[in-house]
Amino acid sequence: MLLLSASSLLADCPTPRLRLTPSTREPRQGAVVSVVLRSDAPLTAAALGGDDERIALESDGSGRVFRGLVGVDFEAKTGKHVFAAEATDSCGSSHHATLELRVRPGQFPSQRLKLEPKYVEPPESEKERIANDRERVARAWESAEEGRRWRAAFALPVPGTTAGAFGARRVLNGETKSRHSGVDMAAPEGTPVLAAAPARVALAEDLYFSGGTVILDHGGGLFTTYFHLSRIDVKPGDVVAAREPIAAVGATGRATGPHLHWGARLHGKRVNPLGLMRLSAWQPAVPESSDRSVKK
Ligand SMILES: [Zn+2]
Repeated sequence: MLLLSASSLLADCPTPRLRLTPSTREPRQGAVVSVVLRSDAPLTAAALGGDDERIALESDGSGRVFRGLVGVDFEAKTGKHVFAAEATDSCGSSHHATLELRVRPGQFPSQRLKLEPKYVEPPESEKERIANDRERVARAWESAEEGRRWRAAFALPVPGTTAGAFGARRVLNGETKSRHSGVDMAAPEGTPVLAAAPARVALAEDLYFSGGTVILDHGGGLFTTYFHLSRIDVKPGDVVAAREPIAAVGATGRATGPHLHWGARLHGKRVNPLGLMRLSAWQPAVPESSDRSVKK
């Protein structure tokens, strides 16, 4: 005990110089921004505090380079957003740095859709079910696992198709009703839907608006969502690999025809999932126990 406290008193902890580098300083609404924190002295932990979130930054193992992802909600206020980084050195002292992002408006289209009236003004008899659905989805977000499962850029869940309309302002049956929080990918009914990245299944069931629904938890505050499925091949708690089939394309719930609605949620922010396809490979500090460590 005495020895420990004596050595920590004697420990040499110079004030680290911190540098925060975002992938962009002027993200659009709905963007995914990767942030690197560099320090000239080793740190034991680092985190980034934003509008209403706290993002743990992950060390590369050296204690001098930490990474994290910031999500810009598609309805985030445009203009200046300040994030405060807090870093802890090996003597337990805190050090701070700030990151300023200037959020630009997203380039969102406007869409007019003709839907069955029951999906625009749901009947009284469905109100309880809809409230129940909302609660189940909220519970899925709360079940978030801390450990990041993904290691590389995400894959398209329906390969080879084009996707669009992220953030669209939607006029449903002549009334401005909602914003579109994902991308719609055209594909024939029954097309296999693939997991965009390694994940744990957080929700897999039929919901009123989104129809056959799967929510994948990729860890580290990142989820992807898959709506309007005709068939679901996974159950909550299943662990899936990148590109593993999880379901089939359909037109269930509020859909005008067969397509996959693909969404993403990062630290509670609704972001464009296509932004996840540009993430650079990002290896864990300590390799997971895997075949790589086994000599064959
Ligand atoms: Zn959609």
